[in-house]
Amino acid sequence: MADHGLTKILLDESELPTHWYNIVADLPEPPPPPLHPGTHEPIGPEALAPLFPMALIEQEVTTERYVEIPEEVREVYRLWRPSPLYRARRLERALDTPARIYFKYEGVSPAGSHKPNTAVPQAYYNAMEGTKKITTETGAGQWGSALAFATAQFGIECEVWMVAASFLGKPYRASMIRTWGADIHSSPSELTEAGRAVLAQDPDSPGSLGIAISEAVEMAAQDPDTKYALGSVLNHVLLHQTVIGQEALAQLAKVDETPDLIVGCAGGGSNLAGLIFPFLREKMAGTMSPRLLAVEPDACPSMTRGEYRYDFGDVAGMTPLLKMHTLGHDFVPDPIHAGGLRYHGMSPLLSHVKELGLMEATSIGQTACFEAAIQFARTEGIVPAPEPTHALAMAIQEAERAKETGEETVILTALCGHGHFDMAAYDAYLSGELEDRPYPTEKVADAMTRVPVIA
Ligand SMILES: *Cc1c(COP(=O)(O)O)cnc(C)c1O
Repeated sequence: MADHGLTKILLDESELPTHWYNIVADLPEPPPPPLHPGTHEPIGPEALAPLFPMALIEQEVTTERYVEIPEEVREVYRLWRPSPLYRARRLERALDTPARIYFKYEGVSPAGSHKPNTAVPQAYYNAMEGTKKITTETGAGQWGSALAFATAQFGIECEVWMVAASFLGKPYRASMIRTWGADIHSSPSELTEAGRAVLAQDPDSPGSLGIAISEAVEMAAQDPDTKYALGSVLNHVLLHQTVIGQEALAQLAKVDETPDLIVGCAGGGSNLAGLIFPFLREKMAGTMSPRLLAVEPDACPSMTRGEYRYDFGDVAGMTPLLKMHTLGHDFVPDPIHAGGLRYHGMSPLLSHVKELGLMEATSIGQTACFEAAIQFARTEGIVPAPEPTHALAMAIQEAERAKETGEETVILTALCGHGHFDMAAYDAYLSGELEDRPYPTEKVADAMTRVPVIA
């Protein structure tokens, strides 16, 4: 085809999506419902009411195909959206590939990742329903900073539990969170029963997302004016992220391209789902047929080596049981650098899409990711966050394969964040200290013995 000549494919502010897209409306089967942690019966929306505002609970269970984006949310989105879609011409040239590589760049948001796409509506609906404070957990700090930014836009307080290993290793994410006015604690903390229980067993615990979630949920459950927010995994989060894929679809259409492969990194699944769901809608409608591929770290391989079964979302077993790909709720990850990808479970909705055979998954080690990151930074200029380098590494592999076959493959990926707060990880790689730490299969089997059995 004729080359469109563009490097950045931009949309006008007037082309900002007006609705979020809900894939549930188009799936051949509904996803399995969340279950009560004690009775194992399906929970109704009211079970979530102590933690989330009603508007978000409704979005969690809705089967409507489109949900309107409130104008107040679109106004904040306009600070950085629509985000650019880039054609990675310089990388293509370095690879000498006939493949055309596009990346949707979410690092242009105030917090530097895709997370504000959901933090903003979550803060908005909480503010509308009178919430005074939102508690949350954060791993690498991206979600905590996104929520700190978003709550500041709507005048509510925010309190963040940050996984201890990252709290020590990424002090500037914590500074950013404080700059936007939120409170931050290292997790496990002495402030909650869940935190004290972990510290009693292991005073030097590096923490985990599961532990930090338990702490944030415990605090929210005690106070009617305090709610809790989650930055990934849940249906309403994936819903909000579909602005990414809707924009990318419009951007590719502008240059008359259809993707052959869409590849993204998956931690809890939100940026990947946000990117692929609008394309999956098209695929199910028969207008295009891209391969959809999730990439996760070898060190936290929930979809490729975990089991698809009901498990808790947190370590203390306080959350509803979710049917998902899981490594077991007491999973404590090795301290790999892609902190945002270290959750034990995968979004139930994305897990369901995978089980339906609509998406594939693979895993990769962190040294291969950083090798790709360096090549990307030296050609395209952007220093990627460690998480999306998983997808970049696969995109590069695919482009190299295209070189062998001579195919003009069109590859789309989400560069879901920049790596400006991750330079310690780059240092480790550049000085040869980074190691691959594949997760041992025996540990999965062992963790499964503590996952509840559903009759
Ligand atoms: C949080 C985060 C992730 C992982 O979360 P998903 O829900 O899987 O998207 C990936 N990349 C970046 C940059 C993040 O901030």
